[in-house]
Amino acid sequence: MKIDILSLFPSYFSSPFDVSIIKRAIENKILEIGQIDIRDFTKDKHKKVDDRPFGGGPGMVLTPQPLIDAIRSVKTKDSYVIYLTPQGKIFNSNKAIALSEKKHLILICGHYEGIDQRVIDSEVDEEISIGDFVLTNGCIPAIAIVDAVSRFIPDVIKNPSAPYDDTFNEGRFEGPQYTRPEVFEDMSVPKVLLNGNHKKIKEYKNLEGIKKMKKNRSDLYFKFLLDQKQKKSKEKKLVEN
Ligand code: SAM
Repeated sequence: MKIDILSLFPSYFSSPFDVSIIKRAIENKILEIGQIDIRDFTKDKHKKVDDRPFGGGPGMVLTPQPLIDAIRSVKTKDSYVIYLTPQGKIFNSNKAIALSEKKHLILICGHYEGIDQRVIDSEVDEEISIGDFVLTNGCIPAIAIVDAVSRFIPDVIKNPSAPYDDTFNEGRFEGPQYTRPEVFEDMSVPKVLLNGNHKKIKEYKNLEGIKKMKKNRSDLYFKFLLDQKQKKSKEKKLVEN
């Protein structure tokens, strides 16, 4: 897969993509990441890429010309163009899986007060937010999306089922993890994890994951309960028919 990131700060990305799993994916040519400087495309003789908002208001807005030219310099018929914005749909694991099936992503990182609406209207396929908070620019959202999407690209993670066993798979939380030593500062690893009974281990981990979801994410917990109820009623209907 190819991902082109359009921003005012391409140097932002050198270190996050130069470590661990993403670095290996790039070296193995599974993933190609282009870092495009929007400023390189401005036709303004002072290299300006922003201007004051029409109608007044604080701050500056990225002007359409450099951004549209930057997008069109990499856009092909296979491209899927995403504008990172706090006003977008909230990014999640299902979205990461869907995006991992695209051939080419173009991620637009805004800055200042954002980008001219006409860029969104004419070039953008989807607006995505990484959460209900406002960052100074879209570089951190771009890094988060590249990282989360890459995990689902075949061969990026050695064990192909691993990303699908993680939290959010089938709407669940993964259970707690323990490693050696068996006792640490008087805290013992739960006995069930030591007895080799895989059915019991799975049940324990499932239950602990659900308990944690209930405690920390009641929104997901209620959705999980509803999904389970619907699944059971579907199964009942199939048996009855
Ligand atoms: N004035 C904008 C608003 O109120 O919606 C916020 C602009 S923000 C300061 C600057 C840029 O950071 C945005 O254009 C966007 O690219 C990026 N950004 C900030 N928060 C984000 C978030 N939660 N998710 C995705 N991108 C975000």
